[in-house]
Amino acid sequence: MTFLSETLSRVKPSPTVAVTQLARELRAAGRDVIALGAGEPDFDTPDNIKRAAIAAIERGETKYTAPDGIPELKQAICDKFSRENGLTYAPAQISVSTGGKQVLYNALMATLNPGDEVLIPAPYWVSYPDMVRMGGAEPVIVETSLETGFKVSAEALEAAITPRTKWLIFNSPSNPTGAGYSRGELKALTDVLMRHPHVWVMTDDMYEHLAYDGFAFCTPAEVEPGLYPRTLTVNGVSKAYAMTGWRIGYAGGPEDLIAAMRKVQSQSTTNPCSISQWAAVEALTGPQDFLATRAEAFRRRRDLVVDALNACPGVTCPLPEGAFYVYPSVAGCLGTTSPGGKRIETDEDFATALLEESGVAVVFGAAFGLSPHIRISYAASEEALTEACARIRTFCEGLV
Ligand code: PLP
Repeated sequence: MTFLSETLSRVKPSPTVAVTQLARELRAAGRDVIALGAGEPDFDTPDNIKRAAIAAIERGETKYTAPDGIPELKQAICDKFSRENGLTYAPAQISVSTGGKQVLYNALMATLNPGDEVLIPAPYWVSYPDMVRMGGAEPVIVETSLETGFKVSAEALEAAITPRTKWLIFNSPSNPTGAGYSRGELKALTDVLMRHPHVWVMTDDMYEHLAYDGFAFCTPAEVEPGLYPRTLTVNGVSKAYAMTGWRIGYAGGPEDLIAAMRKVQSQSTTNPCSISQWAAVEALTGPQDFLATRAEAFRRRRDLVVDALNACPGVTCPLPEGAFYVYPSVAGCLGTTSPGGKRIETDEDFATALLEESGVAVVFGAAFGLSPHIRISYAASEEALTEACARIRTFCEGLV
């Protein structure tokens, strides 16, 4: 339809949102569906954070705020970066937006020009390539594989850089694979970037606090201080503090870039929700001990799911370092017919038949740029996960 913008015709709707919606519709129609498609913690927002929001309402903190965040939240973010990441940012180097998603969006809109290239390791979070396209630039996909732990090698990164490369979008622990880069693995990449001073780094650290078995999270500007002047360190409260609906994300970066992002925000959403900003101040400055307790619950679920999936014929599931996703290969299931008589030629066929015949909603790997895989979110109860894995096993055992 010509009325719509040409840019939008290059963009797909989010497949993860689509799967969640389909699962919801099947449930509303009376089907017994276990939804493992969504990327949000099933835990509730901690009470101290909710109380801080209520207190903010009662104090009348219900008006427009400074476009990219109240001073109290910017200071709490500076303190967080210093305490947890060894990074020194001044409040003028901080931007707060409506979720990590808007932070990334603002940064891309503020910097991209036609012809620019943005490196995105695959499998990737679904929104990166489409946001880059909305900015009129070209996503350049850098492939990884199950064999390399879904991590980009220094050689692959080096080979993908051209004079047009503007950004590398880096995400560890990763959505959709859960892969986390060790300090050594990340240093190999930052060494490459040090040789290409025109390439900036947008690091998406949303899953920082969801890491297991002693995995030591690190972020590019910390591992290579030489990259600090061209790194945007993005984080948020959505995943760690179970605050997906509050919509608060933030970033630290060079002041000029932050000012440009502020301009985008001031002409789009004006400011993130005032009440949520006060809730985020409490999240970042209040008690942090529940983070470890929740991470331990996620670790147990990860182990449960990985063990159960590896018992399914045709499925291979590596053990990820973090986040709350696993990204098993279903290569051994292709070329078969499902118990309900559907041909399984792709990971999308697998995910569709699994939902329709066994009532388990997962997202197919093609959506994240690496097939044949499925992404399973284990942010669900152990009972639901046990039942879902039993259904997946029965489904796989029925493939002929
Ligand atoms: N980055 C990654 C890797 C994510 O998985 C998500 C959410 O799914 C986001 C960013 C966006 O987070 P927010 O809900 O704060 O916008």
